[in-house]
Amino acid sequence: MTYTGSCHCGGIKFTVEGELAGAMACNCSICQRKGSLLWFVPRGKLEVQTWEDDAGTYTFNKHAIKHRFCRTCGIHPYGEATDPKGNRMAAINIRCLEGIDLAAIPVHHFDGRSL
Ligand SMILES: [Zn+2]
Repeated sequence: MTYTGSCHCGGIKFTVEGELAGAMACNCSICQRKGSLLWFVPRGKLEVQTWEDDAGTYTFNKHAIKHRFCRTCGIHPYGEATDPKGNRMAAINIRCLEGIDLAAIPVHHFDGRSL
């Protein structure tokens, strides 16, 4: 299935391909503040349809994860990172997807505070 997503103002638009079976709520210092619900997919399954450099990039700590955000509206639709095996991954903030029933998506809680 292909999902369509965007930031609030539409400056960042994307599609993501896959089966959305669940999402992760993390309590690390940034996820807790953003309130994002994350769905991890191979980076190749995420197609950003706007100019990718329009998205700002925020990194901290080990700078391993690129937290991508809209410079206009401030929404964080996705992040990018490389998994331990070297595969490029994307973490989609499913709150930015259109046409899904958020309340019906199983959410598991991840203790990321120590990372
Ligand atoms: Zn925006």
